[in-house]
Amino acid sequence: MLDAGWKFDNSYARLPERFFSKVLPTPVRAPKLAVLNRSLAVKLGLNEEALRSEDGVAVFAGNQIPGGAEPLAQAYAGHQFGYFTMLGDGRAVLLGEHVTPSGERVDIQLKGSGRTPYSRGGDGRAALGPMLREYIVSEAMHALGIPTTRSLAVVTTGETIMRETELPGAVLTRVASSHLRVGTFQYAAQWGTIEELRALADYALWRHFPGFEEAENRYLFLLEQVIERQAELIAKWQLVGFVHGVMNTDNMTISGETIDYGPCAFMDTYSLETVFSSIDTEGRYAYGNQPYIGGWNLARFAESLLPLLDENEEKAIALAQGALDEYPKRYHHHWLSGMRAKLGLAEEQEGDQELIADLLRLMEAHRADYTNTFRALTLGEYTGMALFDSAEFREWQERWQTRLSQESVSREEAYERMRRHNPAVIPRNHRVEEALAAAVHDGDYSVMERFLEALSDPYAYSPEQEKYAELPPPSDRPYRTFCGT
Ligand code: AMP
Ligand code: MG
Ligand code: MG
Repeated sequence: MLDAGWKFDNSYARLPERFFSKVLPTPVRAPKLAVLNRSLAVKLGLNEEALRSEDGVAVFAGNQIPGGAEPLAQAYAGHQFGYFTMLGDGRAVLLGEHVTPSGERVDIQLKGSGRTPYSRGGDGRAALGPMLREYIVSEAMHALGIPTTRSLAVVTTGETIMRETELPGAVLTRVASSHLRVGTFQYAAQWGTIEELRALADYALWRHFPGFEEAENRYLFLLEQVIERQAELIAKWQLVGFVHGVMNTDNMTISGETIDYGPCAFMDTYSLETVFSSIDTEGRYAYGNQPYIGGWNLARFAESLLPLLDENEEKAIALAQGALDEYPKRYHHHWLSGMRAKLGLAEEQEGDQELIADLLRLMEAHRADYTNTFRALTLGEYTGMALFDSAEFREWQERWQTRLSQESVSREEAYERMRRHNPAVIPRNHRVEEALAAAVHDGDYSVMERFLEALSDPYAYSPEQEKYAELPPPSDRPYRTFCGT
């Protein structure tokens, strides 16, 4: 038997028992590999041939447990659309932590692997379409330079699952720097002892925030670091037009990685009100709300840390408030410097914010495509959009050009900067759907493979990428996404 190269060391399993339930994945009837992420496998020090073999696929399906793995479902709580509830891995099992040859520690989790003590009414299973969708979008996010969980493999189960209709079942192998969530801390604060809460916080520090030993107050340091990472992450989402769709506190990581690709989608037409999720009827998680929801979630994180921040409650609240006050500033800093880069600006000038705001206003007024506006500015090709024919835009363009000429770097360098910050290709919804339809209905994975190839280097501006920049044909129905499939 070929050795796949799994090296497990399961630190999470050594936390107090309250934080998990030991549970095995439920075997499936006829596992078959649908996709394997070759470059990620290499990065993790795994053997591709072994992963593709019958034993390798059996591991991805949950039918075989690799040596050293200690499968468990993680316990967590969370605010879902503002309401606090107990959750936990209802359809996922953490096999353990794989330590790569370079010493990196990553969670290996099977998603769609059967029922757990946290399944409530659910079947613990996942459908092929949504798992392939997570694979495509998470890998695209990674290539865009946005921290995210990743997808190592998807296997089909040979079983169907029952949703509104019968669907083919699948299991996704998710790789994450950890699955610690704001909701994990809420769970500890709500039902754990102070010692358990402290154990969790110390664990998160050890796992993600080297240098914490030097901090005067390590739990305040933890709060500040998570705030900084989330400010940077959410700014990156805004800069590429990513709408997460379900920013519940259980879907916000401590590591600062994007997690949970259920109802997410990329925005085409620029609008702060963009919502894709069929259940987000109030627009709580609309594109323009994401930075504020980030702040709201971080306040829930801060609350859960209060008993650790200081013995004196008033002091603890003051410390938490002080840290939270930094969030809007940190977010704005990351967003503004990212926007400057999208316009080719390396230096800071006072009027920059106005220049950016005016462009966004024009984009909204002319219903311009978000990604393609910046792509056009980068290429200097102004065609195919009403925005570019307007006198207002030409006026704006002149202001921008004047501003560019005040930079100390050359025009070439400015355009080079733009190329690095304005993707030529994003996973547009109609292209994602096209790839999924071919794979799920026809068993044809070639559409998806070509799409993944184009998405793997979104800043290449290669000829192969041009067709992926095309907009969907006009539709009278808005694009809708669903969670829980
Ligand atoms: P999500 O909306 O993806 O963040 O999931 C919210 C909660 O529902 C988590 O606790 C999931 O584990 C659980 N869940 C989602 N789908 C299923 C399912 N098919 N069976 C059991 N639990 C599920
Ligand atoms: Mg979730
Ligand atoms: Mg989900």
